[in-house]
Amino acid sequence: MELRIVNLYPDQMNIYADRGNLIFLGMRCRWRGIGFSIESCGIGKDFDPDACDLLYIGGGQDRDQEIVALDLIDNKIEAVNEAFNTGKTILAVCGGYQLLGRSWETETGAHEGLGLVDMTTVRTDEDRLIGPVLIETNFGGSELRVAGFENHGGRTYLGPGVSPFGKVIQGKGNNGRDGFEGVTSNGLVGTYLHGPLLPKNYILADRLVEAALGARYGSIPDLVGLDDSAEVEAHDSAVQAALTSR
Ligand code: GLN
Repeated sequence: MELRIVNLYPDQMNIYADRGNLIFLGMRCRWRGIGFSIESCGIGKDFDPDACDLLYIGGGQDRDQEIVALDLIDNKIEAVNEAFNTGKTILAVCGGYQLLGRSWETETGAHEGLGLVDMTTVRTDEDRLIGPVLIETNFGGSELRVAGFENHGGRTYLGPGVSPFGKVIQGKGNNGRDGFEGVTSNGLVGTYLHGPLLPKNYILADRLVEAALGARYGSIPDLVGLDDSAEVEAHDSAVQAALTSR
């Protein structure tokens, strides 16, 4: 088996070292004897959705996000749509997550999004939403707690019937009001949880690998167990950081 990742805009959308998530996915694949490749796809480039099992886009500053948003619409919208419509796994973090919706806003105004999901991101003059987060998600079939860190000015609202990635236990989530965090639709996960999301949440990492390989090979693979002692410690400490930030 092989997991092929396409990493969109690694130069612009890598705030808080979001790229570390891919290194972690790669290690977990290698430890299990699963082949792994990452193709970087930057400004002006296109990618082949058939040659991609997991599409990744990280977070970025407003300015970089504005640049990549235009490029997405000019150069990649068809490939991203095809990846989404054929059930490829997509992981989008923070600024990358905001780009999936109908529209998103910065201080310079409203911008067009990819429109993969019925959601919008607006800006208010209230404070940025910053701090440790703990959520509960059912992504991958059973209840799972996911811990991380958020830092965003935008407030995201999901349209009727759109499923959040999880429910907020601690933190602000999509908008600090409705108790939802992120979005999930088809094989897509969008989330505000930044930085080492997957190293802190190894079960989520494995569920993404299962989803991506399951879509490629037609059945969910039985992933070999690993020694997860360091990963369990990382997860527990991220959960504690969120719970004690109340
Ligand atoms: N620019 C977006 C916001 O602040 C996303 C920021 C980020 O990716 N950290 O809302």
